[in-house]
Amino acid sequence: MPHLNIGVVGAGIVGLAHAWSAAERGHKVTVFERSAMASGASIRNFGMVWPIGQPAGSAHHTALLSRERWLKLAGQAKIWASPCGSIHLAHRPDEWDVLKEFQAVAAEIGVDCTLLDPAQVLEKTSAANPARLLGGLFSPTELCVNPPAAIRALPGWLSSMFDVRFEFQTTITETDGNSAQSASGRRWNFDRVIVCGGADFETLFPELFANVGLKRCKLQMIKTVPQPNGWRIGPHLASGLTIRHYRNFEICPSLPVLKQRVANESPELDQFGIHVMASQNDEGCVILGDSHEYDQQIEPFDKQLIDELILRELRSIIQLPDWTIQEHWHGIYAKHPSEPIFAAQPLPNVFVRTCTGGSGMTMSFGLAEQDWEQWS
Ligand SMILES: Cc1cc2nc3c(=O)[nH]c(=O)nc-3n(C[C@H](O)[C@H](O)[C@H](O)COP(=O)(O)OP(=O)(O)OC[C@H]3O[C@@H](n4cnc5c(N)ncnc54)[C@H](O)[C@@H]3O)c2cc1C
Repeated sequence: MPHLNIGVVGAGIVGLAHAWSAAERGHKVTVFERSAMASGASIRNFGMVWPIGQPAGSAHHTALLSRERWLKLAGQAKIWASPCGSIHLAHRPDEWDVLKEFQAVAAEIGVDCTLLDPAQVLEKTSAANPARLLGGLFSPTELCVNPPAAIRALPGWLSSMFDVRFEFQTTITETDGNSAQSASGRRWNFDRVIVCGGADFETLFPELFANVGLKRCKLQMIKTVPQPNGWRIGPHLASGLTIRHYRNFEICPSLPVLKQRVANESPELDQFGIHVMASQNDEGCVILGDSHEYDQQIEPFDKQLIDELILRELRSIIQLPDWTIQEHWHGIYAKHPSEPIFAAQPLPNVFVRTCTGGSGMTMSFGLAEQDWEQWS
């Protein structure tokens, strides 16, 4: 394939991933970002690269490819990525039933995970609350990254290593694939444009986004102060509530029982789409979340009640040396009811790419590699 002149709209993880894969193949890339620095979903998340959450098959394969790419990036760009793995904790019998069912078929479906008894869980993490702990599902494939640090360091690294330039504070309002025009009227010529605008469905190709079933999803998040004395959580921790959330567990016959029990016992959790997880960044802070509110439910204001429910649930399954909260924020991502990726080609040289499963940190590098393999 000849070397192309590529335009990328959006400097979130999806845009950066496509820029990196293109640049490695020798293409010239210009990335446009409307903000002075990336400030969308890609800097607001847990930093969990989470292959275990993807359904077995092609999505899981893409996630594992992303994992490899993150580790390559960490080595080359000196970006922190810890191969910490993950544990789903079970404190209730129906949670344990689902984890056992999943693990029983895991090898057959190509997923690497093991069941841990409570003592084995506590060997891997002193953060698990031992009270009523029945066990956990350990997966070695998850990584932890520091989203704001990684996403904001990548433009500098890409520009220094490859023929990639960034145009920040530049909103692209029009593209036909052979050129792109900014709100201020400046125009650039390209061979191909890749639109990676995240949850912006209005600026470019609004007619395309209007009819494809995409929604916006708002999540509330919390971060603690750095934990004292270098304390580390170990693997990422997910709760029994999380088992309701990720599609990988849909193959387990007991999942409806768990979902029904939570719906009966704590309808407020379903109301706000709450399941709880914890990750710890390289600065020692523990990132806690989250909730899910969609489209018309989304207000610019965050709900204290949601944060209280997240903390209530987390405190029942994990223990931290210091629960002092340093920051609260929310993020918004594009959500599709069933697909982890939305891909479209509205014009011959325009490619739209959006991660739509709340898993862009997990999927983007793999998606971009697969795209560029196919396009090369
Ligand atoms: C709170 C939260 C927690 C999450 N946790 C995880 C997690 O732990 N693991 C995981 O895998 N995923 C997680 N996700 C999902 C993941 O963060 C997203 O899927 C991913 O960041 C989406 O990346 P993006 O590049 O599509 O969007 P964004 O990061 O939103 O980037 C899109 C960028 O495009 C720019 N833009 C849009 N239109 C234009 C235009 N016309 N011109 C110029 N610039 C434009 C925007 O300014 C923005 O910077 C989480 C999401 C949230 C919100």
